[in-house]
Amino acid sequence: MSRIGNAIIVGGGIGGPVVAMALRRAGIEATVYEAYDGSADGVGGALSIAPNGRTALAAIDAEAAVAAIGHPMRAMVMQSWTGKRLAEFGSPPSLPEQLLVWRSDLYRALYDEATRRGIRIEHGKRLVSLTESTAGDGRVVAHFSDGTSAAGDVLIGADGIRSTVRRLIDPAAPEPRYAGLLGFGARTSGAGLVSTGDKMHMVFGKRAFFGYQVGADESGWFANLPHPTPMSAAEARRIDAAEWLRRLAEVFRDDRTPAVEMIRRTAPEELVITGGLEDIPSVPTWHRGRVVLVGDAAHATSPSSGQGASLAIESAVQLARCLRDLPVPEAFTAYERLRRDRAERIIKMAARTNSDKAAGPIARVLRDLLMPVAMRLLANPEKWAWQFDYPIDWAAPVAAPARVAA
Ligand SMILES: Cc1cc2nc3c(=O)[nH]c(=O)nc-3n(C[C@H](O)[C@H](O)[C@H](O)COP(=O)(O)OP(=O)(O)OC[C@H]3O[C@@H](n4cnc5c(N)ncnc54)[C@H](O)[C@@H]3O)c2cc1C
Repeated sequence: MSRIGNAIIVGGGIGGPVVAMALRRAGIEATVYEAYDGSADGVGGALSIAPNGRTALAAIDAEAAVAAIGHPMRAMVMQSWTGKRLAEFGSPPSLPEQLLVWRSDLYRALYDEATRRGIRIEHGKRLVSLTESTAGDGRVVAHFSDGTSAAGDVLIGADGIRSTVRRLIDPAAPEPRYAGLLGFGARTSGAGLVSTGDKMHMVFGKRAFFGYQVGADESGWFANLPHPTPMSAAEARRIDAAEWLRRLAEVFRDDRTPAVEMIRRTAPEELVITGGLEDIPSVPTWHRGRVVLVGDAAHATSPSSGQGASLAIESAVQLARCLRDLPVPEAFTAYERLRRDRAERIIKMAARTNSDKAAGPIARVLRDLLMPVAMRLLANPEKWAWQFDYPIDWAAPVAAPARVAA
């Protein structure tokens, strides 16, 4: 039996529609308010849905929607720029395999599934401030830039790494941290290239990091280019795409991989420029009063973790379970206890990967020497089990958090 009637969800990216679907299952009505007018079709590069993300979607019967648009990624092959194979990681056989999805396809699939389930998603609603209802009923009111407002029993900030909700509940909240890398990617033809089957290859290149998967019908690549100063996606897009492609082909010129060939096959209009890789190691305040954060707003990891979307999905489902079983604020405390340590551990691991990717000429020599040993250790599936194996028992009641003695 749910304790609240309705929820306002700010942000219709990945976490927003999932938390709305999970709340609906828990008997709580939710409306999603998204800042942008249109859909996110064509926006964003490739990302992975890890086994744990798929398991979390399955807990609310929404996994099929994502499986339909994902390309299976049965393993990741780690390579050095010399072409040497360093290690191969796969998901444990008992778990669903990893999926490679384009963010725009993922967004569309979740959007369609949520609306199919009757969830209202309102566009052109950019949250600017929050107040408490003047009716004295403890409800929270969201105010949007178009002058409209909406009231709910709780407000969930699913508004991403630059969350407005995060700043409203804690004006001192940390800002995103730049990882020293810019992101690029493209879908391109793989005709004539050696197929990687259902494996993603990841190359610690001589000057930059390159990932690629070559399939029969479609191939894709992404690159992380070390860059000393941060650049937003908009700033990076002010530089001509043809110029970025030229620079990328140049930095990969010594690597014994298909990088240069795949970049040459990419037309400027196909290049996806995602801007600086960022994370936030720890957000001190996840909730205040009737307001709570979910997804990147609470735990933004850089794309190097391969877990940003999956963590957002997991948190969305767990938050709904907590709101189903416990009153606010105990629900928020229980949710944070379920999620914080795991999310921050993943953020930390990705930050270490970023420093290997952004290694300068001297650090790179050391990295290349140590990498084979480090990779052999990492290739042990038990090292990854805690990340991938995160079952969520939807039906199990969430225990109330123990009270801290005064
Ligand atoms: C445009 C874009 C491109 C991305 N590309 C990649 C990529 O290539 N690779 C990768 O690994 N990850 C990428 N990500 C990040 C990845 O999607 C997230 O890490 C992950 O999905 C977490 O989801 P989330 O729902 O917490 O945040 P997001 O998916 O970022 O969704 C947040 C949503 O909130 C909306 N929003 C923001 N502020 C407000 C406001 N004030 N009022 C109302 N709505 C608001 C945004 O428009 C957005 O739709 C991208 C994110 C975005 C927004």
